[in-house]
Amino acid sequence: MTLARRLARPEILALEPFDLGNREADPDAIKLDANESPFGPLSGGSIAAGVNRYPEPRPQRLRAAMASLYGVAPAQFLVTRGGDDAIDLLCRTFLRGPGDSIAVTSPSFSAYAHFARLQGAQVLDIPLAVTDFSLDAARVIRELKGDPSAKLLCLCTPNNPTGTAVDPATVLEIVDALPDVMVLADEAYLEFGDAPSLASEAIVRPNLLVLKTLSKAFALAGARVGGLVGPPETLDIIARALPPYPLPTLSIAAALEALQPARRAVHRERIAQLLTERDRIAPLIATSPFVRKVYPSAGNYLFLETGETEQLAARLAADGVRVRYRPQAAPGGIRLTIGTRQENDAALAAFGVYVPQATIRTAEIARDTKETRIALAIDLDRPEPRRIDTGIPYYDHMLDQVAAHGGFSLVLNCRGDLEIDPHHSIEDVAIALGSGLKSALGDKRGIGRFGFALPMDETEAQVLIDLSGRPFSRFEGTFQASHIGDYPTEMTPHVFRSLADSLGAAIHVKVIGENDHHKVEASFKAFGRALRQALAIEGKRDVLPSTKGML
Ligand SMILES: *Cc1c(COP(=O)(O)O)cnc(C)c1O
Repeated sequence: MTLARRLARPEILALEPFDLGNREADPDAIKLDANESPFGPLSGGSIAAGVNRYPEPRPQRLRAAMASLYGVAPAQFLVTRGGDDAIDLLCRTFLRGPGDSIAVTSPSFSAYAHFARLQGAQVLDIPLAVTDFSLDAARVIRELKGDPSAKLLCLCTPNNPTGTAVDPATVLEIVDALPDVMVLADEAYLEFGDAPSLASEAIVRPNLLVLKTLSKAFALAGARVGGLVGPPETLDIIARALPPYPLPTLSIAAALEALQPARRAVHRERIAQLLTERDRIAPLIATSPFVRKVYPSAGNYLFLETGETEQLAARLAADGVRVRYRPQAAPGGIRLTIGTRQENDAALAAFGVYVPQATIRTAEIARDTKETRIALAIDLDRPEPRRIDTGIPYYDHMLDQVAAHGGFSLVLNCRGDLEIDPHHSIEDVAIALGSGLKSALGDKRGIGRFGFALPMDETEAQVLIDLSGRPFSRFEGTFQASHIGDYPTEMTPHVFRSLADSLGAAIHVKVIGENDHHKVEASFKAFGRALRQALAIEGKRDVLPSTKGML
């Protein structure tokens, strides 16, 4: 027997390692096994600055940002190294040896029992209904009421891995019926469902805590940032179990960047896209010859019951599609994370469901400078949503015209130094929009490439476009008024030049007329119309509209 084995606590030796699969095995795999966001962390600049110093022991700005995100005061939020760490902290704070127990409702998240066992505590299982994984609140209350060993109860809603949500009223009914048990409502996936958060209830109850994480909806699983919502007195006790510097500087910086107000709209749009994908995939995967049942899900994943599991596993492995196997939860149980459209189509194919290859022309841009912070999402093949907020209402209206007439979806948010001048915001947004369009166009195969537009009302605006890859811009037209609202009219030629530069396009604008409002608006509208023709896929997807063979 090695020394370590002789000295180790029996609880440690008895502990099963976490079943996380072999994540390192294939770095190119399609990772639909860990409920991560398929998107990058929306990080603009370098976040490595300052790592020579210790991080803040209790990151105040992050605490404030997360508290505000969840609608509570900073003192009512405890930042932890991911939600997992919050669970470990709770177990270390409240459980001590075999006289204490944690109640779980299986099948659920395995970390609750794991960290409880690490403290030598008992695990009391009150299983969910086998038919639909619903929670029997009366049974939970009956089994825990008067059990002096019961210290903690974990209710995961929406539940991992089954996707089932517990009605917040049911959680509160349990909380109120069990005043001597600390209840953890795990809301790791709340953002993907439509139930309200229990955060506002946790801050006024001595026996309810809410778990939050930036891993899922905020695409930060690698940064390990989460936390607990609860009354300050409770959080102060739990915080005693924290190490001195729980969160790395890089994680704090990454989280603060992701939570910037300018990023919110794109985060919301990402969640909307994942939900659209979840609702597209669910009925399709139900037609798979391997799938027996698809459970309704309120998370960014689907729980499936499958048959012929070995054959399916071989197909998934051959196609490089990773899923999480959960045979203890249900026979042939598989949890499939919702990824990007391409990833989901690859997963469907591995399940034997083939869908026509979709044209995917999307882009996201996060662009930060000292003057502006911009995040945008574009989808050239979807007309909605269009949500634009640059802080300059007239410019928002103009960009909305471009997207509406261009026929593409645009979610764009800019927080700029408007207190100085709108110049930076207007210019940087034009640059970001051009870069986004360029990136969404990708290899440009199948596009019209050229566009033109002609008169509108009493004003005449002509816009000619060539998405040639070569920036050039010409603007013919003059304005009498210096401003329209907060928008300086002199910026108009500048916007088209910035767009031409970052999009890599020749843009010729000519505008004549009486009214400056009309002239500016007609220029943007005509630009949108011209863009629509140039962006449109015409005919063969694989044909490049150039005799040179490149654009
Ligand atoms: C992912 C997850 C968490 C926490 O994840 P972290 O990455 O540690 O923040 C907590 N609970 C459930 C149910 C989860 O699935």
